Amino acid sequence: MTYRSIVRRVRGMDTSDGAGVRLKRVIGQPALDMLDPFLMLDEFRSDQAGDYIEGFPDHPHRGFETVTYMLAGRMRHGDNKGNTGDLAPGSVQWMTAGSGLVHSEMPQQEEGLMWGFQLWVNLPAADKMVAPRYQDIPPADIPVAYPAEGVTVRVIAGELAGAAGPVSGIRTDPIYFDIALEAGASVDLPLPPGHNAFVYVFDGTSVNVAGHAISRSELAVLSKGDTVNIRATEPGRLLLVAGRPLGEPVARYGPFVMNTQAQIHEAIADFRAGRF
Ligand code: MN
Repeated sequence: MTYRSIVRRVRGMDTSDGAGVRLKRVIGQPALDMLDPFLMLDEFRSDQAGDYIEGFPDHPHRGFETVTYMLAGRMRHGDNKGNTGDLAPGSVQWMTAGSGLVHSEMPQQEEGLMWGFQLWVNLPAADKMVAPRYQDIPPADIPVAYPAEGVTVRVIAGELAGAAGPVSGIRTDPIYFDIALEAGASVDLPLPPGHNAFVYVFDGTSVNVAGHAISRSELAVLSKGDTVNIRATEPGRLLLVAGRPLGEPVARYGPFVMNTQAQIHEAIADFRAGRF
């Protein structure tokens, strides 16, 4: 057994995106540009409607996947191919943008808490132009694993203690766990040894990961290895996310993530010409 340690710690940076939605950018900021295959991680959390009410009106994506995980509040998704969906509390949408689409993500509430995450996962070169695909997963379809006393894990992608996440067919073989710990809980969790992995603490004061206290709104990048130890002296909650690194060139411009600048220019031209 090879325990993972912590190689880097990053705090979420306050910023805004879409039509002025306030959020914390954790991956995809100067302190952590990317963690192959992960291109971006945002946490949005506010009970002030002015921070989220304008949402994310029509915008394109090409060449990667967006993963939205809602903790509180509702968003409605719609795209230019006629797909629509409601993102309810506890639900996940794994959207493979592939060759491209134009969509909107809009709050379906005028007050109250809006809380969740959006993760961007890169696609391998061979799959950047696949047809768009959606996996909309309601809360009841996300299994819960109990790998140790006082540890509750919602298994969104990957497998743990007999629970298999509902997300399927993703090229980077991702792990996506939402882990809640009670005070005093400790657990060793298995990870594919070659995957890049991170934890992000989003509730409680801090959670101990690989022997270090990681505080709320802090991300820790893990070294390679097949096991990570997580324990808590007080209740806490965190994401554990891992994926197979692609090791390919990345050319990115806003919502387009390709391998070369020529492909970026092509994406912009295709979008402007209405070919998405
Ligand atoms: Mn989007």
